[in-house]
Amino acid sequence: MDHLPVFINLRQKPCLVVGGGNIALRKVNLLLKAQAKIKCISPEFCSGLIELSRENTLDLIEKRFESTDIDNQSVIIAATDDDKTNAMVSSLAHESGIPINVVDSPDLSSFIMPSIVDRSPIVIAISSAGKAPVLARIIRAKLETIIPSAYGNLAEIAGEYRHKVKQRFVNLKDRRKFWESVFSGVIAEKVFAGRSEEAKADIEKYLAGSIEMNLGEVYLVGAGPGDPDLLTFKALRLMQQADVVLYDRLVSKGVMELVRRDAELIYVGKKGGSESTRQIDINERLVELAKSGKRVCRLKGGDPFIFGRGGEEIETLSDNGIPFQIVPGITAASGCASYSGIPLTHRDYSQSCRFVTAHLKDGTSNLPWEEFVVEQQTIVFYMALTSVNHICQQLIAHGMREDMPVALIERGTTPEQKVYSTSLSKLPDLINNREIHAPTLMIVGEVVSLRKKLGWFGD
Ligand code: SAH
Repeated sequence: MDHLPVFINLRQKPCLVVGGGNIALRKVNLLLKAQAKIKCISPEFCSGLIELSRENTLDLIEKRFESTDIDNQSVIIAATDDDKTNAMVSSLAHESGIPINVVDSPDLSSFIMPSIVDRSPIVIAISSAGKAPVLARIIRAKLETIIPSAYGNLAEIAGEYRHKVKQRFVNLKDRRKFWESVFSGVIAEKVFAGRSEEAKADIEKYLAGSIEMNLGEVYLVGAGPGDPDLLTFKALRLMQQADVVLYDRLVSKGVMELVRRDAELIYVGKKGGSESTRQIDINERLVELAKSGKRVCRLKGGDPFIFGRGGEEIETLSDNGIPFQIVPGITAASGCASYSGIPLTHRDYSQSCRFVTAHLKDGTSNLPWEEFVVEQQTIVFYMALTSVNHICQQLIAHGMREDMPVALIERGTTPEQKVYSTSLSKLPDLINNREIHAPTLMIVGEVVSLRKKLGWFGD
């Protein structure tokens, strides 16, 4: 290790920044966060610094740096674009034993500034000892994506209860167990969802012994249309902390690979052409697992609330008093449209977009066809594969132009995506002799013709 990582308390301590450009601005911003008393010296200042000094206690001194400027400073940062000045500040600071950082010059610095992930009071510092700052920044960006932004709030709340918890659990092991359950269970999730007051009330109840600590929870997570890169940060986080994952055919392999390795996986889809698991059985299973204290992730293709029966699942959970969270996902219409170059709306062609299921609960597809045959509207049919002929016939019979552009998108957003785009009257023949794989989505409307205009010739 080339440097010892330490966190310095600079609250109300005099700090000097030499330089007035954008780099100095970044350093001043950091020192402001640490509540330092800042003096910034430079013959001129960028507009950002001037702006900042209007709203913050910040001393901008317009002059050249002189040796006496370092007197009584706790920390000095040299951020000028003049090597001579930087070197002078460095040697003066070294002589006086004041910690000095010269931006991008580890050799002139007595300390270096790490890349940071700020979830105050949690702060993560990453350093490459000045050898690969870009790599440190890449690592930082990765951490930013996996650490929920509300971790800071969680730590604040923990701070508030630290003393009480110490009194309640005298034994260190019990205390640790308590905090582990708080940080990776229902309480943490409530804080992340912005429900801090509820979370605090739960902590009070646990401390008073009026509720059980290891309550289970269900996450109803939208897994998107296939490409794992389309998952949300929240979906990924919950997938990686679940004890059990229930999934079906619509959840892609790529997404399943991101589930926590040691989670129990339960398949609740169709098995080799046989009937799907009954919805009521899935609902009951979710309740049963959560009641046994498990964190259960129900992964749903696309968005759980768009033709996903998410509503039915949470009804049962709510009837049974099981805590749950719903995480939206990118629905097939958005995913397939983007990945095939079809804007769902367009100022010149379509002012509204309708999502329709071609498969009704009673097995028919008796739909309000005349409502679909209106100008400037895009219609997206989910679950349409077996009814393509019927849909095309009905739309034409109700007055839609035979040459209305239409696209059938197979396994959208995955590496196997295929797009068949043609006109309403030609689609049935086009797909007649081909083997089309589910899932498929059908988009009807003028916007479909835009994919060629937008230069989409990939398929
Ligand atoms: N909740 C899901 C939809 C479930 S209904 C969502 O929001 O996307 C299942 C239907 O979704 C399929 O029959 C198909 O029409 C559509 N679908 C889901 N994923 C798809 C994909 N990757 N490509 C094409 N269609 C898809």
